[in-house]
Amino acid sequence: MGVPRPRIGILGDGQLGRMLTLAALPLGLDVRIVSSGSAASTCPFLGRRPPLDGDDPQQLDALARAVDVVTVESENVRLDWLEALAARVTVLPSPAAVGVAQDRVREKEALQAHGIATAQWRQVDDAPGLHGAVRDLGFPLVLKTRRFGYDGKGQRWLRAEADVAAVPESFLARGLIAEAAVPFTRELSLVCTRSGAGDVAFWPLVENVHRGGILVRTEAPARDVAPPVEAALRAAVARMLDGWSYVGTFALELFDTPTGVVANEMAPRVHNTGHWTQAGTATCQFANHVRAVAGLPIDACAEVAPTVMLNVIGGVPDARALLAIPGVSLHLYGKEPRPGRKLGHVNVLLDRAGAQGLASAGALVDTALRLAEEPGDPPT
Ligand code: AMP
Repeated sequence: MGVPRPRIGILGDGQLGRMLTLAALPLGLDVRIVSSGSAASTCPFLGRRPPLDGDDPQQLDALARAVDVVTVESENVRLDWLEALAARVTVLPSPAAVGVAQDRVREKEALQAHGIATAQWRQVDDAPGLHGAVRDLGFPLVLKTRRFGYDGKGQRWLRAEADVAAVPESFLARGLIAEAAVPFTRELSLVCTRSGAGDVAFWPLVENVHRGGILVRTEAPARDVAPPVEAALRAAVARMLDGWSYVGTFALELFDTPTGVVANEMAPRVHNTGHWTQAGTATCQFANHVRAVAGLPIDACAEVAPTVMLNVIGGVPDARALLAIPGVSLHLYGKEPRPGRKLGHVNVLLDRAGAQGLASAGALVDTALRLAEEPGDPPT
């Protein structure tokens, strides 16, 4: 019997689309990339045919004729176009799931409906709504745009009445959510892949460190996670994904607090905090995503080698020095360096590199790191 070989279209030509393509090629799958048309997405093209232009509806029509399955590298896609594609080809994950993840209000409702704790929140559309949220939630609170926020962009912390008065009308008009501050001790995330057959492969909870709102480091697995906490979270996420008949890789960002884990936001896609799986597990998040959307079995990924992922941001570290460290691998996306821009990542296998190797790799990556005030890249 032959293996199913659907032609796959990927909306988005950033590093996630590129790594999905890299994962699809060994399976003999034909991949068609659709560029987002934004200047941020400039990963060199990989594949046999040039990218289609995602800003051109005619090219989307060409995509529907050229592929069997469409998937996304970002939740920030035009939902109407995704829905139009879904009428003609299989779209995975479904537009419904992507639509929830596009909107922080719907996202919180979905999480809570499945028993997953979130920050206390209020929808804020105007000045009276803002005052009501301040009254209900107290200070400090964070105002976030419901849509198209990433890496801390589109956010404003309010700590006193003066901050409330200073919120511009134009910001309110964007449609916001107010969240009470979560007193977290660390940030975690859960990444998993659900197959079309309904199997869910979970990677262990990982610990994430951000600087200037951008992910700089992931430690896998996270230390000192109580097994019942992780098991309960997995069960709740599996129920939520089952409800959407979700297919593909999925990520949930979380806060760890003295009273339990609290979900922050979800991503209906492969995720930066899952890049460590390229080194630390047999089948990485990209390979499992491609298998899932292609209708192939996924790998349970039960065995994990402790790994630290370091993001390469703004400047490229000395590759020769990095690769001389045992257990270190380097993945560059081929993008032009710019402060704040994610250019690649380094995976450090702890059993091979040891504490010394990790420290050396960290120092090399840090030396090249250039963070920025300006937005860098779309979310990953
Ligand atoms: P986000 O864009 O929602 O991922 O938020 C960016 C960062 O802001 C998070 O990684 C946290 O460090 C912080 N943050 C966001 N929401 C909250 C909250 N409700 N309480 C405390 N910190 C938050």
